[in-house]
Amino acid sequence: MNKGVWVFIEQREGEVQKVSLELLGKGRQLADQLSTKLTALLMGENVAQAAQELIYRGADEVIVVEDSLLNVYITEPYTKVMSCLIEERRPEIILIGATAIGRDLAPRVSARVHTGLTADCTSLEIEDETQNLLMTRPAFGGNIMATIICPDFRPQMSTVRPGVMVELDIDTTRKGEIINIKPSLVKEDINVEILEIVKEKKQKVKIEEANVLISGGRGLGKIDGFEILNQLASELGGMVSGSRAVVDAGWIDRDYQVGQTGKTVRPNLYFACGISGAIQHVAGMEESELIIAINKNTEAPIFEVADVGIVGDVHKVIPALIEELKSLKK
Ligand SMILES: Cc1cc2nc3c(=O)[nH]c(=O)nc-3n(C[C@H](O)[C@H](O)[C@H](O)COP(=O)(O)OP(=O)(O)OC[C@H]3O[C@@H](n4cnc5c(N)ncnc54)[C@H](O)[C@@H]3O)c2cc1C
Repeated sequence: MNKGVWVFIEQREGEVQKVSLELLGKGRQLADQLSTKLTALLMGENVAQAAQELIYRGADEVIVVEDSLLNVYITEPYTKVMSCLIEERRPEIILIGATAIGRDLAPRVSARVHTGLTADCTSLEIEDETQNLLMTRPAFGGNIMATIICPDFRPQMSTVRPGVMVELDIDTTRKGEIINIKPSLVKEDINVEILEIVKEKKQKVKIEEANVLISGGRGLGKIDGFEILNQLASELGGMVSGSRAVVDAGWIDRDYQVGQTGKTVRPNLYFACGISGAIQHVAGMEESELIIAINKNTEAPIFEVADVGIVGDVHKVIPALIEELKSLKK
């Protein structure tokens, strides 16, 4: 008998993170395919009020574990609670969001319960014949897709990239069971003390509302390349955005990412500077009114969607454009 699909519900200050809702959407599909239950695992202090929504979002069952020692995420107590529950209830599959918290928790738990873990998956399917979970993730910098299975150990564990799976709409007719569990945690379980939590003050950026977007890709060479993009953006009264490659490289924040796992934008003018035009990028910008691509490779797929294509080096073309714009304004 199959023992169920679990989703670890990540909450911060009681607020369920979007990735966990996305995983409930995927988890629902996997559980249906396996004819088993979907369980949401919610840990924290004073978080129980979130349980009902998890049922409306697809869970059949919510395990709520509340304790003051689970107030903020700390590796040890979360690992202990989760590992004990796994050993007691033996789920088949566990999905965890590939966030900073999920990437910290998942390997600890998998080592403790001695099973396999695939990190940062972008696709999850059930193999018809064996009912094993096929966990697919980009490897070698996204150049190949690797599908990994864990045939001999249970649970099959996977962290999943945020923004890839689709959350279900709230369905208030859904019913489920809420199970409250009091963990046996003691202060000695914790060797880490949190002195202070510092929140980065981020301005809400809305690239999807900009009329003009100057988007940069790996072709900029390095983070400094964004300086000329900023200049061009201020000449044209636009905003800067980028491809996932530059977000992964840490050149700009994730809020500025255009594409399938970033934002979908539709400005009047979209500049693609040093962006190859991978399908996942194009999916987020092809509806733009006018697309201007600058790329030194004539074969770059971005030219297939561009209205105006400039073959050349961004470091030469953009300064020349800025000069021209300045002289036009005089
Ligand atoms: C599940 C999944 C989701 C994804 N989601 C997204 C997403 O939301 N958004 C996204 O963007 N990507 C996404 N990707 C990644 C995507 O597949 C590409 O890897 C990414 O878009 C490549 O970024 P890039 O074009 O900046 O870099 P590259 O592909 O490396 O392209 C760089 C380009 O710059 C050109 N170039 C180099 N030097 C210069 C120069 N000096 N002057 C002019 N041109 C130059 C090159 O010819 C090349 O075309 C996703 C991938 C997966 C698997």
